[in-house]
Amino acid sequence: RGSRAPDYLAGLNAEQRAAVETTEGPVLVLAGAGTGKTRVLTTRIAHILATGRAWPSQILAVTFTNKAAREMKNRVGLLVGEQVEGMPWLGTFHSIGVKILRRHAELVGLKSNFTILDTDDQIRLIKQLIQAENLDDKRWPARGFAQMLDAWKNKGLTAKDIPEGDARAFANGKGRELYAAYQARLKSLNACDFGDLLLHPIAIFRAHPDVLAEYHKRFRYILVDEYQDTNVAQYLWLRLLAQRPTRRDSTAIAETRAPAAGRKGERPSAGEAAPAQASERSERSAVSEDQRQQINICCVGDDDQSIYGWRGAEVDNILRFDKDFPGATVIRLERNYRSTAHILGAASHLIAHNEDRLGKTLFTDFSDPEHQKVEVNAGWDSEEEARAIGEAIEDLQRRDSHDLNDMAILVRASFQMRTFEDRFVTMGLNYRVIGGPRFYERMEVRDALAYFRCVVQPADDLAFERIVNTPKRGLGDATIRLLHDYARSREIPLIAAAGEMVETEELKPKPRNALRRVVTDLVRWAGLLDSTKHTELAEQILEESGYTAMWQADRSAEAPGRLENLKELIRSMEEYESLASFLEHVALVMDTEQNADLDAVSIMTLHAAKGLEFETVFLPGWEEGLFPHQRALDEGGRSGLEEERRLAYVGITRAKRRAKIWFVSNRRIHGLWQSTIPSRFLDELPEAHVEVMEANTNTYGGYGASRWDGAAAFQENAYQTPGWRRAQAANAGFAGGKGSSGGDGWSGGRTRQIDYGGGAGSNARAGAA
Ligand code: ATP
Ligand code: MG
Repeated sequence: RGSRAPDYLAGLNAEQRAAVETTEGPVLVLAGAGTGKTRVLTTRIAHILATGRAWPSQILAVTFTNKAAREMKNRVGLLVGEQVEGMPWLGTFHSIGVKILRRHAELVGLKSNFTILDTDDQIRLIKQLIQAENLDDKRWPARGFAQMLDAWKNKGLTAKDIPEGDARAFANGKGRELYAAYQARLKSLNACDFGDLLLHPIAIFRAHPDVLAEYHKRFRYILVDEYQDTNVAQYLWLRLLAQRPTRRDSTAIAETRAPAAGRKGERPSAGEAAPAQASERSERSAVSEDQRQQINICCVGDDDQSIYGWRGAEVDNILRFDKDFPGATVIRLERNYRSTAHILGAASHLIAHNEDRLGKTLFTDFSDPEHQKVEVNAGWDSEEEARAIGEAIEDLQRRDSHDLNDMAILVRASFQMRTFEDRFVTMGLNYRVIGGPRFYERMEVRDALAYFRCVVQPADDLAFERIVNTPKRGLGDATIRLLHDYARSREIPLIAAAGEMVETEELKPKPRNALRRVVTDLVRWAGLLDSTKHTELAEQILEESGYTAMWQADRSAEAPGRLENLKELIRSMEEYESLASFLEHVALVMDTEQNADLDAVSIMTLHAAKGLEFETVFLPGWEEGLFPHQRALDEGGRSGLEEERRLAYVGITRAKRRAKIWFVSNRRIHGLWQSTIPSRFLDELPEAHVEVMEANTNTYGGYGASRWDGAAAFQENAYQTPGWRRAQAANAGFAGGKGSSGGDGWSGGRTRQIDYGGGAGSNARAGAA
């Protein structure tokens, strides 16, 4: 019975098993969604441990998110038991980076107890530097520079590596100086930022071969999940750890340089190397020629799921793996274990519209008695979308006794979450938001709410403290302390204290004037409470306080999303009578606990859903401009569109049994109601795997209503017929559209919501509708 495979190998298919058992040398598993890549990684760890190839502490296992790291630890724990506790090097790039840096901090001029700056600290520091240079910080905002720094660090560039053009882009050529000054300042503060958690170790490894050698000895096995989303810095870090230099090449590592920067949004076509990397590669392959020194690195990934290009990820890292690691074993997995044939078929057909991909075949034997097609549902607006999805969830829960934990709502933009959260609170449906704060807990939303609270409740000290110096008005800690003392000694609220204090000599003129302005504004806005419509007043407050402008001036990747959230916040007030009743509602929503043990629906962005799986997945907001997102199209062109399509692929392939897509015909974008156009991705779904649902006024979303064969909607040529789209836009979408029975948005009776052929009759199937 000696030949019987150990338990952890049982059930793996031949390719998976090869990936697990090929422990020596470089291995790349390049395979589509749900084919067991992550499972291969965890089983591989179990195998390495069970066969005594390494101690738990000799394995380096890297994932992308904290959630993924926890998940991996759990899965390994199930296979190997307590040994997993002895794996200090299982974690995210950042968590492992910080651990390495603490051990060698002095080599980059830090002490091992260095602090890690958060974004606010970082911005404050940059601002000081900009002022010290006598630059106009309105023209050259600190946030803009923080964003550039981030991009440089993602590319693995230190101050002296920044290309000339890049350095010129900020403050007439001061970019490089500022970067260097910033690093010097960090050093004097015994601090580093997030990017440094990788950049410092890279510098240490390059400058101190003895330290690097120590890690080479330590890390017998290296494993990386989601390899397609590594950025240049992560890539360089990994390569330094994975390379075993021969004696004659020992200088090569120090010379390993970041690939040439500035090919943003451009990928080489499948399998073909980018010219920019050609010279660098010859340098690299020399490094790893020594076959006596095996590099036991295993990376798994899927080029079709590369969704962090906007953050500096470079999908070519995965495409050139076998060039980086000569002699690499490349394993492909083709069997999907996660999803039904309809879901896999729909996703595969969609992603085939991308030109920039390796292409792969996938099949599944996963059988499901229901075997539902991918559903496409239409709604009137986002409120109806949320209501219908809420009811669908309740149906699954009550009628079919599904767990809420098995369901997820995956949105393209975080502002979309608000409608769902509000709706679920009203329904009493448990939900949790993954990978980020809930809508009303987001920084910008809390700031805005704090302004409103100050206006409505002038005794709200916490709210006042939050906004008094946001945006920055030169009201530093010292001023705030004086204000506190004043308020406490007289037992009055901070706002009242501020009102009195600005009439005294206790503050210096500059802070006094700044504070006077805040108080005067708050009083003035409060005076408008009765006479101005609350939504307008709210907008006015955010404008006049400079809060909106602060984010408009911000060039970080998050800023546009924050502005969207602010708009969504104002929009969400419309349903309430006054600012006060709205704030009361928010307080109630915020009060609902996010309990990890609770059975709850997950709400998250598509980006946060990478690697996860659910029985049922809801995909709302499939409309042009939202998904694909306008920004991606404007900034990224074709490659931007392809990244959006990969995101759609990630979304659909999270589903095991049920994927339910939604689009609405009216959405409020940038504060204006707009008739929307269904996403082009809907046209790219194959007819055979999709069912277009007919809605019914009385049973929102059409569950249980008769179904309409969606054939007409998914003509192959539909998207090639621009007239069709124009007709859609002109019609505000749908026949039977705008009704107004009881505010439901639908006129009575059954109306065919999706009538692609309506209007101009440009579609061949118009008659069939
Ligand atoms: P993604 O690309 O989405 O990250 P993945 O390739 O990492 O997907 P896994 O999450 O590892 O895929 O696996 C998908 C699902 O299939 C999981 O539920 C996993 O347990 C299951 N699975 C994988 N391999 C097998 C197998 N050989 N037998 C049964 N189930 C399997
Ligand atoms: Mg995975």
